[in-house]
Amino acid sequence: MTDKLNNYNKKRNFNKTTEPKGKATKKITKPIFKFVVQHHIASRDHFDFRLEWNGVLLSWAVPKGPSYNSDDKRLAIRVEDHPTDYAGFEGIIPQGQYGGGTVMLWDEGSWVPYGSVNQGLKNGTLKFVLNGKRLMGKWALIKIKTDNNKQDNWLLIKEKDQFQNNQNISNFSTSIKTGRTMAQIEKNEEIVKNPFVKIGKQLDKVTDDNITISIEGIDITNPSKIMFNNTNIKKIDIVKYYVKVAKRMLPYLQNRIVSVIRCPKGSGQSCFFKKHPAGTSKGIVSIKVKNGKNADEEYFYINSIYGVIFEAQMNTIEFHTWGSTVNSLEYPDIMVFDLDPDEGMDLKKIRQGVKDLKSILTELSLKSFLKTSGGKGYHIVVPFKPSVNWDTFYKFAKNIAKIMEQKWPERYTSNIKKINRINKIFVDWQRNGRGATTVVPYSLRSKVGTTVSMPISWKELGTIAPNGINIEIALERLKKPDPWKNFYKINQKLKPD
Ligand code: ATP
Ligand code: MN
Repeated sequence: MTDKLNNYNKKRNFNKTTEPKGKATKKITKPIFKFVVQHHIASRDHFDFRLEWNGVLLSWAVPKGPSYNSDDKRLAIRVEDHPTDYAGFEGIIPQGQYGGGTVMLWDEGSWVPYGSVNQGLKNGTLKFVLNGKRLMGKWALIKIKTDNNKQDNWLLIKEKDQFQNNQNISNFSTSIKTGRTMAQIEKNEEIVKNPFVKIGKQLDKVTDDNITISIEGIDITNPSKIMFNNTNIKKIDIVKYYVKVAKRMLPYLQNRIVSVIRCPKGSGQSCFFKKHPAGTSKGIVSIKVKNGKNADEEYFYINSIYGVIFEAQMNTIEFHTWGSTVNSLEYPDIMVFDLDPDEGMDLKKIRQGVKDLKSILTELSLKSFLKTSGGKGYHIVVPFKPSVNWDTFYKFAKNIAKIMEQKWPERYTSNIKKINRINKIFVDWQRNGRGATTVVPYSLRSKVGTTVSMPISWKELGTIAPNGINIEIALERLKKPDPWKNFYKINQKLKPD
């Protein structure tokens, strides 16, 4: 078996190159065979076309590379068989070594021959279907009869089918494995595995805001659309904002049923609240949930940064979530008190309200966290380990609001009716019911300005107004320590009734 790769091994010094040593695979039992195309810049720029067969990779060097156009016939010089491991190779072959240069994994997938391959190799007609990322459909390799037998010359031809087109293969200039360009592989640039860093780098490359750009396969259309009236903030800026805050925001957003506020015409009256899924994407998951009438309703949640990017593409400005995660939907873990002041109330009184509420929670030995709403009030957020059902959770929150009302009846009301709110703050506890939502930390707001619902420390209560953090300041603040760093480390539980 190994002698099939004698030629391959003889040409290479494995102390010097990181290409794999040739060892033919022994057992061939699988029905699916791999193909790979490597872009190889060596003494000549060419593409290596390889088909897995009988434990090795049959190989052709294609100087111009494959063509999607069925009128093209591309010279393909049959070269020595390569080991199957070679299909994963991308990198640098040292200068002076055989094939010295740079190799990029340009395409890979499976191939299905029609008819006998061994016969086809002998007769000089090999027909097959490729199922790759960039090469698809029917192809043929046809041997050319030459007088001198020095080179084993074939032609690689795209056969007519729905996959033929006029695209140029130079449109695809990055590795299908690592996303790197030839220049990056040559510089041995680090392979970016962290999706946040990777997406950040893709966004950094955006120079012209006017053309549709693709971030991890999600096309951002209309990137230069202004999303906030009387500002310069474009759709692409919102994508960038959410990518930058994603690391801090995702712990509160992901795996929670989400409602979004989308503003296709930018912030203003035309925004709408959406709680049912619309459109599928990487990072967005649909979930059927029983509603109050015991009927299934379709909701969705975001499970990665890709879902955030998709939503930004859909013109989403605000993200609102349930107080439970999908893993434990009926046992909530985030309690929110929203202080809604009467119109025109002095900020001092609102801040006093936050302090009073905190003092009640502290008396109950409950740790809590503070964020701006991005609007008129503050949100006091209490983390719990899931332990009680919605009913118990809701009643507990109501009791807290009732205590506030009883202790300071001239300052607070637990009743949502505006008539009860005159000169008072409504301590909104009703967001703690099943199916209710609250704006997520780090979410932008679509109402006034470009404000953010921002986690702040208790010390900052006196200096940061409810609408005091905008998109710019929010990004600046990411450099500072996270005021909610311990949020999920807090180990507090409610007792079931
Ligand atoms: P402010 O400080 O200005 O009161 P806020 O975030 O506390 O800001 P709103 O923006 O008025 O208050 O919040 C509306 C609340 O109602 C949010 O908790 C939101 O999740 C919820 N909500 C439920 N359904 C809708 C809807 N159809 N449209 C808007 N909000 C909705
Ligand atoms: Mn509010």
